[in-house]
Amino acid sequence: MKATVVERRAELLRLYAGLPWKTALARVEAAAPGSLLIPEPDAGQLVLEARVMAALAWRQITTLHPWGIEYVDPRSDRLLICFEPDVAGRRNAEATQELDLAKALLPRADEYDQIMGVPGARTHIKDGRVVLRLPGTTASVVLLGLDPEEWRRAVETQDLEMRTWGMTPCHQGRPDSLHPVERPYRRPGRRGTAASDWLLSGLLRRAGLIRSLGVPLVVTGWLNCRERGGGERWIIDPTFAEGHGPAGHRRLAALLSAPDRGLPVTIVDEHCNCDLPPGYTDQCTTTIASVRPERPGALEVRTIHRRGDRLRRIQQDRPALYAVQKKLTHSLPATVNRWLESVRPPTAGATGTAVSAPR
Ligand SMILES: [Zn+2]
Repeated sequence: MKATVVERRAELLRLYAGLPWKTALARVEAAAPGSLLIPEPDAGQLVLEARVMAALAWRQITTLHPWGIEYVDPRSDRLLICFEPDVAGRRNAEATQELDLAKALLPRADEYDQIMGVPGARTHIKDGRVVLRLPGTTASVVLLGLDPEEWRRAVETQDLEMRTWGMTPCHQGRPDSLHPVERPYRRPGRRGTAASDWLLSGLLRRAGLIRSLGVPLVVTGWLNCRERGGGERWIIDPTFAEGHGPAGHRRLAALLSAPDRGLPVTIVDEHCNCDLPPGYTDQCTTTIASVRPERPGALEVRTIHRRGDRLRRIQQDRPALYAVQKKLTHSLPATVNRWLESVRPPTAGATGTAVSAPR
């Protein structure tokens, strides 16, 4: 067990963000006394991060880490995201990390002025790193782990492909300004500035938590619907193996809603199927929702615990990938385990029925 307060905070930061130990320790040591473990970004930064999370939620390439993210380094004025190297043995070797990210992030408009990618996003290389930003704001997301030359080639390839398909790359020739079709996306109330941006930004800043479930297999996410009150309901479905049954998804929900370091949310619904024998559904669903009326939004977490024949097929189909993913499991620090025991939610023990925790 870590002995000092600083070390215990660094353990928490490593758990939430996935940061390497020394980096986590350095961040905590440099932080002002009493500051939040995971800083809250300002409004512009929040919008950029939310759109990046939305674009990354469903990766099109095989990744080892959830969403291909090795770790995030959340600062108050920016966010650094370190992506894993390309996975050896990927089914489509030409779909590199750089190309897939260029496709996901760069904005392009169709003939009806609908934008795919992140509206307003511009990228440049600075000190060998790919930096994503929004013109007219101080917001930036630094994409670590990418090769600058590969990134330049990926942008060229993506732009060429978009033009071939009759789409307009919005960023081309406009490094510091918006394309006319991007401007409406920056107005309040449009998709580019949703009321629940805090939820997506907050999730991205805590991306490491997914690995606390067990062996991470794959995770996808999508927008389900608009909630009453203007917020959005997002769904993520982390698929994992060798976890801790009901304890696994309950502690993920507890960590996501923890005071001080979690999101301002509470657990509003849980449907647990952990007690069903292998061969039935592998999915348990927990919904967490905002506790602040002025910041609406909900996140439905569908944890899918692969076991039995389904797990054996995954292990036999891609043994090398599974062996690497097995090493990515985050084990919880002893202090966190003790805290989780002390806050055991009132839904614990419920099986096969939808139950609600007090709001
Ligand atoms: Zn369960």
